[in-house]
Amino acid sequence: MKNKVMKQLLPDKNGYYGSFGGRFAPETLMAVLAQLEKQYQAIKKDKTFKKEFESYLKEYAGRPTNLYFARRLSAHLKTLKVYLKREDLLHTGAHKINNTLGQILVARRMGKTRIIAETGAGQHGVATATAAALFGLKCIVYMGAEDVKRQSLNVYRMKLMGAQVIPVESGSKTLKDAMNEAVRDWVTNVADTFYIIGSVAGFHPYPAMVRDFQSVIGREARQQFLAKENKLPNYLLACVGGGSNAMGLFHAFYNDKTVKMIGVEAAGHGVDTHEHSATLNKGAVGVLHGSKSMLLQDNDGQIQIAHSIAAGLDYPGVGPEHAFYHDSKRAEYVTITDKEAIEGLKLLARLEGIIPALETSHAIAYLQKLASRAKKNSTVIVCLSGRGDKDMNQISQFI
Ligand SMILES: *Cc1c(COP(=O)(O)O)cnc(C)c1O
Repeated sequence: MKNKVMKQLLPDKNGYYGSFGGRFAPETLMAVLAQLEKQYQAIKKDKTFKKEFESYLKEYAGRPTNLYFARRLSAHLKTLKVYLKREDLLHTGAHKINNTLGQILVARRMGKTRIIAETGAGQHGVATATAAALFGLKCIVYMGAEDVKRQSLNVYRMKLMGAQVIPVESGSKTLKDAMNEAVRDWVTNVADTFYIIGSVAGFHPYPAMVRDFQSVIGREARQQFLAKENKLPNYLLACVGGGSNAMGLFHAFYNDKTVKMIGVEAAGHGVDTHEHSATLNKGAVGVLHGSKSMLLQDNDGQIQIAHSIAAGLDYPGVGPEHAFYHDSKRAEYVTITDKEAIEGLKLLARLEGIIPALETSHAIAYLQKLASRAKKNSTVIVCLSGRGDKDMNQISQFI
């Protein structure tokens, strides 16, 4: 069961995954996006780039991460043997560093000296500021003014590493407004600026590029699982915000038709309220942030504010490749509420001594539901996308 060469050629040359994806960009960005795509195609074949990227992942970020058999959790669930892919053990505490290291190396190749990013909870901002500090590049992070207040710890972290954090006062003062501001900056400063997008979303080629940088998660997990179990897992499980940790895990298994993939969206206060982030389950087709995908929108087609207890899942869109997996039924997308996620967090803390991020806790919480429908002795790999230290203030009221 060697990892076959991917037969899947998606996205197509226009950046489409089935009917999703594409490049819906202002004219001023078309040239720089074409240039980026050319660069990305070149680095895909470039052994020197691959070596350089792998060396930073290993020496700086701490790869490979462990695939850990959760013995007590598995005993508790009875039908499921659970393996945790420990992205929480990476430098900065989550999978996001895989992507920002990859993109900063692309930026250097393109001779860009100024890095911009937008961030909601601040985690992508921190991962970007980290990578920028590592290479001494100027870094500007746009963040909704509301989020600056709510996530002050991450603002301090970014500033400590030399990034400039710009609070965005327009609209709802959250992630989507910060996104608009980052694009505005990019349009004005394309010559020297590289825009680091934090998930498998955005204008083509970003969704493919971010997927490729994150796909190390699944490549490692597949090999590690085969070495331990001498077969492939029955299930893959990951939380879905924009979808980068899930796609990172799923991608290497795309052609393994026996492996079932499950993405977990945030149901917030419930999918029948207006306060959730269940984009694939409750959204409709639309264009956001440069690509066609599923989005949460109101009756006028305006973007609806998303909600989740997990700031990193609180995003009204989802990457186009997930919309394609959903549409083609290659993956199943389920939901977990805020309340269930907290129970998931407590379960892993008590049974394994691992405190997961609130985002990740959605995937953990779904294990209980999966256990009740899975056949005996089923196996599952869960992407443990991040550690929960950042969430301690928020969950202190539930302890
Ligand atoms: C940001 C974040 C997520 C959600 O982003 P994806 O692109 O969907 O992976 C999930 N888990 C953690 C720990 C995060 O920081």
